[in-house]
Amino acid sequence: MIIAPKIRGFICTTAHPEGCAAHVAEQIAVVKSRGPITNGPQRVLVIGSSTGYGLSSRIAAAFGSNAATIGVFFERPGEADRTATAGWYNTRAFEKEAAAAGLYARSFNGDAFSDEVKTEVVAAIKADLGQVDLVVYSLASPRRTDPKSGEVYKSVLKPVGASYTNKNLNTGTGVVNEITIEPAEGDDIRQTIAVMGGEDWELWTDALLEAGVMAAGVQTVAYSYIGPEVTWPIYKNGTIGKAKEDLERVQRALDVKLAPLGGKAWVSVNKALVTQASSAIPVVPLYISLLYKVMKAEGTHEDCIEQMDRLLRERLYNGDPQPDAAGRIRVDDWEMTPQVQALVGQRWSEVNTENFPQLGDFEGYQSSFLRLFGFGLTGVDYSAETDPAVGIPSLELA
Ligand code: NAD
Repeated sequence: MIIAPKIRGFICTTAHPEGCAAHVAEQIAVVKSRGPITNGPQRVLVIGSSTGYGLSSRIAAAFGSNAATIGVFFERPGEADRTATAGWYNTRAFEKEAAAAGLYARSFNGDAFSDEVKTEVVAAIKADLGQVDLVVYSLASPRRTDPKSGEVYKSVLKPVGASYTNKNLNTGTGVVNEITIEPAEGDDIRQTIAVMGGEDWELWTDALLEAGVMAAGVQTVAYSYIGPEVTWPIYKNGTIGKAKEDLERVQRALDVKLAPLGGKAWVSVNKALVTQASSAIPVVPLYISLLYKVMKAEGTHEDCIEQMDRLLRERLYNGDPQPDAAGRIRVDDWEMTPQVQALVGQRWSEVNTENFPQLGDFEGYQSSFLRLFGFGLTGVDYSAETDPAVGIPSLELA
């Protein structure tokens, strides 16, 4: 099959196996170029390990710290005439690179919110690793089935209290127009918290603690975002922000639960980046395009891998996590510097369809988006036939 991108709104319905492998290889090279992470994690569980921040966390732990990794994700395998999702190919590539480097890597494709997947993963940790010393929680999902009641919660991206009107980018055409988003209604907030809040992170931690597979000194980290005031109605103060507040509530509860082990739970606030999850949020892609332009010009632009490498190397494992007043790790620090925010803010007020090519990094946005699905990578022959139905080594053994 010859595989080309097929974009539908804010998703791409195809992915390229060799392209995803090249994307993973590039990320590995970034980590390796920075040398080993001193005293880094050795046995790592990443929940949401196949794309975005979770994939980069897994790569940074494995190739920066020689860690054995277990990854959990929800991806669709390929068929003879239909490509897999990108996370499937990313994981295949990751496992192959890990094996070549002599690193243990095992993966689980299933619903991380379910009791079954938790039980399977706990058993694998017991059998293969004994314990884990780092647990990364990096799920982004539009829905969650409650493991006890069976209720299906749906997460929504809406403002709270009042409607919100602001500039918005059509990421396909580059047109900057205005969007109005109606406020949350009914139990939108409760449902979004149930999907993207901390309940499932706590259930994972409880299951791991109960099984005795958390090592002394274990750390666990979940990811959040704050961003600039212009996006607060849709993000920080919106339904998703309520879920992130819940994540912080759970972080404090987990600190108490992990204290007997000398362990620690963290919320890490990461930079706004193009991922499958963030491209679905209104307004944010325009902000990201303006941000990329400013940070690239300043020489401080990072992608997921640089962020996650810095999180491990310069926060979680250097003895100096530099928490903010609320106890959160901030690797969004470079995004949030006053000079970056002043320039992005000024351009935000000026930007329109005509000047967007000058003020924003549309090319960067679009190429980052395509790269998520393995398109536009150097050294990949996109005109060549490729087999979309390739497997993930550890899943084939299972
Ligand atoms: P992503 O879409 O790239 O990754 C989501 C991961 O979750 C994938 O591995 C996917 O397979 C997995 N997943 C989804 N549903 C699952 C399920 N039911 N069972 C098992 N696995 C499942 O998203 P991302 O942007 O990397 O987001 C990860 C975290 O980082 C989120 O908490 C997000 O809010 C946070 N974050 C993202 C940004 C950003 O700009 N992208 C910034 C700061 C924080």
